[in-house]
Amino acid sequence: MSKEIPYKIYLEESEMPKQWYNVRADMKNKPAPLLNPATLEPMTYDDLRPVFCDELIRQELDDTTPYIDIPDEILNFYKMYRPSPLVRAYCLEEKLQTPAKIYYKFEGNNTSGSHKLNSAIAQAYYAKNQGLKGVTTETGAGQWGTALSMACAYLGLDCQVYMVKCSYEQKPFRREVMRTYGASVTPSPSMTTEVGRKILAEHPGTNGSLGCAISEAVEAATHQEGYRYVLGSVLNQVLLHQTVIGLETKTALEKYDIVPDIIIGCAGGGSNLGGLISPFMGEKLRGEKDYRFIAVEPASCPSFTRGKFAYDFCDTGMVCPLAKMYTLGSGFIPSANHAGGLRYHGMSSILSQLYHDGLMEAVSVEQTAVFEAAEKFARVEGILPAPESSHAIKVAIDEALKCKETGEAKTIVFGLTGTGYFDMYAYEKFNNGEMTDYIPTDEELEKGFQGLPVVPER
Ligand SMILES: *Cc1c(COP(=O)(O)O)cnc(C)c1O
Repeated sequence: MSKEIPYKIYLEESEMPKQWYNVRADMKNKPAPLLNPATLEPMTYDDLRPVFCDELIRQELDDTTPYIDIPDEILNFYKMYRPSPLVRAYCLEEKLQTPAKIYYKFEGNNTSGSHKLNSAIAQAYYAKNQGLKGVTTETGAGQWGTALSMACAYLGLDCQVYMVKCSYEQKPFRREVMRTYGASVTPSPSMTTEVGRKILAEHPGTNGSLGCAISEAVEAATHQEGYRYVLGSVLNQVLLHQTVIGLETKTALEKYDIVPDIIIGCAGGGSNLGGLISPFMGEKLRGEKDYRFIAVEPASCPSFTRGKFAYDFCDTGMVCPLAKMYTLGSGFIPSANHAGGLRYHGMSSILSQLYHDGLMEAVSVEQTAVFEAAEKFARVEGILPAPESSHAIKVAIDEALKCKETGEAKTIVFGLTGTGYFDMYAYEKFNNGEMTDYIPTDEELEKGFQGLPVVPER
């Protein structure tokens, strides 16, 4: 007898994961190591120490330990806003008239409005534990900066955020939330760093990019005593912290004997998707179960679907280590009409390897279709989704509609990473019928690929 499935599956505090799961431990083909851009040798613990916190470097380089304990202080912070609900989208199913069963894991129930707080508190905790004064970072749309400023405020750490200039101007309220939590926020590129001054000299009037803000934040960290740089996505450590999403999802599903067929997530740098799928991917890698995993990215920034699997710089200023990933080239900047986030040129090395090995699929979607899906979802499920999250909604709806055609009652799980209250300019454009799509041409992408560093096959 199958149990009646509630609208929301909540876990007890006692059912929350006490360890993060490191999917690398179960990967036969490990993600390629970060390389030192000067020597092209793998970055060692000592190489990384000026930039990152010690414990986080250990996590970054650990390809073998499957479970890593979550310190009590982080668990207690998690308890303020977790466990997050796994919602059965009964109303959306009804609206779509689909036999598919749709679930979403909702990560927007905290002030930062996204899943990013899961890693922000972990990174801030390790910085504090190491006796540091503060951390520097970049933020694009602002969710990561907000999450980090909340975590730093809680632990009494200084937080310096380089915010991509166009967001700084378009999202003044995000900026003020960060300042309310005590962070200092600088529009990037800025005159406060050497790399910022250089970028401004070469591209006066630029609106900035994530890659460029990363370069500035790294420089700021390495030029101040007692500071380190932290990053909100892409890195192995971030994906590790985000596995709380997938672990909770798995426990919730198992409580009701639900077995997903398809698991879907939006992919910017890959952290929420990686976090959501990791425990399920582990089962697939160990040959215990099979699932379909789908990464959804914007057609205007198509790292997986049109990028190259190659070593590249993680930032525009080329000060960071090289990572092997699906990339559009560190010089790639998505078209200015792109409103939906997920604008990073590269992708998590872990997900890149899994995708390369055929263990995961990827699709790209255009932004007007994404906002149509967001609107449809909001009107029946109530939650106003972030544009980023709406990429996953779009493909979840597409898959549910396929089930309608075939009559299959598949179980679809997707990650609803956050809320869209700070994205109302984008919604306004959509509502006014002024939103357009832009798909870069092959020639435009070729320009980005030409900037890829030449790295001998290892
Ligand atoms: C940052 C963000 C993303 C994309 O980042 P990933 O590292 O790919 O998860 C998706 N959704 C929301 C709401 C975000 O803030």
